Amino acid sequence: MQLPPFEYIRPTSLGHALELLAAPGGRAAALAGGTDLVIAMRQRLSTPAVVVGIGALPELKSFEVAEDGGLRIGAGCTLTFLAEHPVVRERHPSLAAAIRSVGSRHVRNTATLGGNLNLPTRCWYTNQSEDWRRARPPCFKTNGDICYVIRSAKECFALNSADSATALLTLGARLTIASASGSRELPLAEFYRNDGLAPTTLGPGELVTAVHVPAHRDRTAFIKIAPRTGLDYGLATIAAAVTGSNRKVTSVRLVVGSIVSWPAPLPGPARIIEEGGLTGEAIEAAAEAARGDLGEVTNLYSSSGYKRRLVRALVRRALEDIRRQKLPAREAA
Ligand SMILES: Cc1cc2nc3c(=O)[nH]c(=O)nc-3n(C[C@H](O)[C@H](O)[C@H](O)COP(=O)(O)OP(=O)(O)OC[C@H]3O[C@@H](n4cnc5c(N)ncnc54)[C@H](O)[C@@H]3O)c2cc1C
Repeated sequence: MQLPPFEYIRPTSLGHALELLAAPGGRAAALAGGTDLVIAMRQRLSTPAVVVGIGALPELKSFEVAEDGGLRIGAGCTLTFLAEHPVVRERHPSLAAAIRSVGSRHVRNTATLGGNLNLPTRCWYTNQSEDWRRARPPCFKTNGDICYVIRSAKECFALNSADSATALLTLGARLTIASASGSRELPLAEFYRNDGLAPTTLGPGELVTAVHVPAHRDRTAFIKIAPRTGLDYGLATIAAAVTGSNRKVTSVRLVVGSIVSWPAPLPGPARIIEEGGLTGEAIEAAAEAARGDLGEVTNLYSSSGYKRRLVRALVRRALEDIRRQKLPAREAA
């Protein structure tokens, strides 16, 4: 599959990149590591007239550690750099695990955190070559009016499979987002929408420039179930973070990925643990309750019944994993 014609521009400053991306009509696309965008272009899912290479911009490569262990990560940091960084591994192990689970080492060597958070939603029917897709009328994602996953659907159910997003959501991350007209900060929790066609609130011409991860004293976990370890997108993932001891839990965040069109928070199971503590009984009840928070689950990539069972098992495994972890020093007192 050949690339469509396009003009490639490699700006030397963030300001110039944002000016180029402000081109009207979405004619310009940002290329970071290119591990997804180049495939999307070959498949004619994305046909930008101008490709703006942002991968080497120094403004997006910065990485700062605050004294308390909080991070400011430039969106252009590669996944390999982050997964191997000692502070990420020691202070934010669930994030390191989530990042390490993305694709293969070759992919992670060029893929960036900004590209991962902005990974388009995926679907078995659309993520194919243009010739393959021509065999049937276009779906919502390719400017048609059909969903091949749910024939009667009025919306797109493509899946969000960005592995870093689940972990970052449980850690309370925030984004800096910039455009030619200024910049804004946004909690990551307000970035995603459960909408296969418009899965983020990023506006035209905007770029994620940095990800802020606050310091924390939580016990955390990340688990990914994939057909092949070290290459595949997840069939299901979970990230969890628990503040407090096993008996006195003060806050729980649970987010599952690769199940619906956004990294889906599970407030119901989280509440059960906050009220009952990390006991065997509460963990079992939380796992059972998970399906109630998922909304509509499709047969995309695996059956909806299997997905619901995976989520139940992942909630149980993540919470049991955290229950076995040592408390951070101050909580142990
Ligand atoms: C074999 C293979 C396996 C993979 N497995 C996984 C997996 O297991 N899990 C997973 O999550 N992903 C997986 N991916 C997808 C992809 O490699 C990663 O999501 C990667 O992190 C994308 O980053 P990138 O820098 O290459 O993004 P790019 O391809 O450069 O860009 C992806 C999208 O994000 C936009 N974008 C890039 N940077 C920014 C920014 N700073 N602000 C706003 N928009 C931006 C681009 O315009 C584009 O639309 C896989 C890909 C391949 C080829």
